Amino acid sequence: MLDLTPIPSFSDNYIWGLSDGRQAWLVDPGDAEPVITWLENKKLDLRGILITHHHADHIGGLAQLLAYRPNTPVYGPETDKIKAVTDRVQDGTELNIGPWHATVLDVPAHTLDHIAYYLAPDASQPGVLFCGDTLFAAGCGRLFEGTAKQLNQAFKRFKALPPETLICCAHEYTLANLAFAQQVEPGNPKLQERCQQEKCKREAGLPTLPSTLAIELATNPFLRPHSPEVQVSAKHYAKADLVGEEAIIATLRRWKDNF
Ligand SMILES: [Zn+2]
Repeated sequence: MLDLTPIPSFSDNYIWGLSDGRQAWLVDPGDAEPVITWLENKKLDLRGILITHHHADHIGGLAQLLAYRPNTPVYGPETDKIKAVTDRVQDGTELNIGPWHATVLDVPAHTLDHIAYYLAPDASQPGVLFCGDTLFAAGCGRLFEGTAKQLNQAFKRFKALPPETLICCAHEYTLANLAFAQQVEPGNPKLQERCQQEKCKREAGLPTLPSTLAIELATNPFLRPHSPEVQVSAKHYAKADLVGEEAIIATLRRWKDNF
């Protein structure tokens, strides 16, 4: 049985902890302290670490965690920006994460070295996507290094996964993203419904994650460049006619950067 835990760190990051009740794996440990507390409280043995990209809030805890558990395998992208990676992975690399099977997807956009990990479904769980800062609940990551074309390609890969896939993003940005989404697509009833649900979770001190691909497809404007209302809003913001999904996504991203 997969136990999937968003471990809060810094002001709005989540480090994802996976465990089978005895062994544990981590995704993007930007900080070591909250993770070590989680491991000790649950009496878990750290067996591996997955890294999605080189930003400090995703890798900052590596040195302390490797001092805490030397020789822990660290999986990460082919880049020289993350020295602690022991196992370099790339698009299509298959990994055994304890009893689970994972596949690596190259998704350059937020950074050029960005990868995602898709844990295949089994009897205990739907598939799980660790998408780092590429896709957020109701939003997406900034384009620091890549292009809107690359972001759209990444989204197409995510859209090809089963709709029940659990989406594990690395930040709690959901309410701010929903405020933007409402500006873009105010006539989407599923979006209105989601706003209420996510507000209730935050008021109760609960994470809004994981999300599911189905929820994102229905409410995340960055996955909805085909929606007539999203198109009209993007064209209005750009004060220009926009042709194609990439142009819509590029405009939405620029709009959100200034929102
Ligand atoms: Zn990042």
